[in-house]
Amino acid sequence: ADPDASHVRVCVIGGGQAGLATGFYLRRAGLVPGVDFVILDAAEQPGGAWAQMWPSLRTFSPTRYSSLPGWMMPTWTEDSGYPLAAHVADYLSAYERRYELAVRRPVRVAGVSRADQGLLVRTDHGNWLADQVVSATGTWSRPFIPTYPGQFAGQQLHTAQYRQAADFSGRRVLVVGGGNSAAQILAEVSRVADTTWVTPRPPRFLPDDVDGHALFQLATNRRRAHDSGHPDTGGVAGLGDIVMVDSVRDARDRGVLHARDPFERLTRSGVRWTNGDHVELDVIIWCTGFRPALHHLAPLRLRGPAGLIPTHGTQAVQEPRLHLVGYGDWTGPASATLIGVGRTARDLATALTQSSAQFPIRRE
Ligand code: FAD
Repeated sequence: ADPDASHVRVCVIGGGQAGLATGFYLRRAGLVPGVDFVILDAAEQPGGAWAQMWPSLRTFSPTRYSSLPGWMMPTWTEDSGYPLAAHVADYLSAYERRYELAVRRPVRVAGVSRADQGLLVRTDHGNWLADQVVSATGTWSRPFIPTYPGQFAGQQLHTAQYRQAADFSGRRVLVVGGGNSAAQILAEVSRVADTTWVTPRPPRFLPDDVDGHALFQLATNRRRAHDSGHPDTGGVAGLGDIVMVDSVRDARDRGVLHARDPFERLTRSGVRWTNGDHVELDVIIWCTGFRPALHHLAPLRLRGPAGLIPTHGTQAVQEPRLHLVGYGDWTGPASATLIGVGRTARDLATALTQSSAQFPIRRE
């Protein structure tokens, strides 16, 4: 225990969209930002992962389906497409100012551990003793790259390091991954480079007139079916999951959206398939996703067999004072989306404030 730790009712770790939506509902329930609850964020600037993404990234839905509770994202007027990442980062920055959420940054949480009267949150800028903790640290800081036999001598990077297509001009580039990041990066890199695309299974494209709002609806229906004991509705599998933003449509029209099956191994100069096919490459871009950033929770020893923390809704099964939000469907249906996180954050704030009788306020 740390006798100098500041007491708070709720400590929210992470000031991206999930942390901000939680803060919005805590404030609406009457908790005072900076007094009853704090939001801590490791980054220098607001915006969560949106402030780190490559500049040409587009959201997969229009602003009316990309908003947090309380205040709509301002309409995107720069062009006819969906908003760029910077527009979302600006919106999140304005959102936290608008609701005076008093996010403290840069404050990096090193670890959360059990203390006599709550959970001790240790950071590089002092410690907090919280009755309850909400972890909303996202996935951006934990890029995932699958392992393959062999070694490639060329350049390799993950989505998280990608900045712009011009960096690969005239080169032979492999894009690995079947989601929206892979499709958008392939679309722009294929304009300046010789590209090959590998997906774990055949890519699934949404119909042109369907945007990310449909993905949200499907995730919600799936969760409802699950909660009421009905069969899984299959999520997005039947519909597809790559949203046909303008750049991806253009790539399709240029005939570059042909995906190959996964290769068998890396070689020094490229990749090889089981049938002996070999492609010579200069660069591999791994658009192979992210994992939840949960290192700071390691002292609580809550991880289940799949590396995730078992939860009832957002509450950790083995540690009722801990909630997790925003990482994926396992912490709320579509809670890893702008539009989806609001509903989970609302339920979470209700749970946090209702349980305050269990975890009474201790103010000096
Ligand atoms: P983040 O935005 O990652 O925020 C987490 C915050 O926690 C960060 O600010 C970080 O600094 C902080 N943090 C992390 N660790 C610590 C620590 N130890 N101590 C203190 N602070 C810490 N969703 C949509 O709705 N529409 C889209 O179009 C869309 N496109 C996407 C495109 C890409 C390439 C990706 C990767 C995701 C996309 N998503 C989209 C999904 C989702 O909206 C984002 O991933 C979103 O950033 C998740 O928000 P978050 O608040 O959970 O996490």
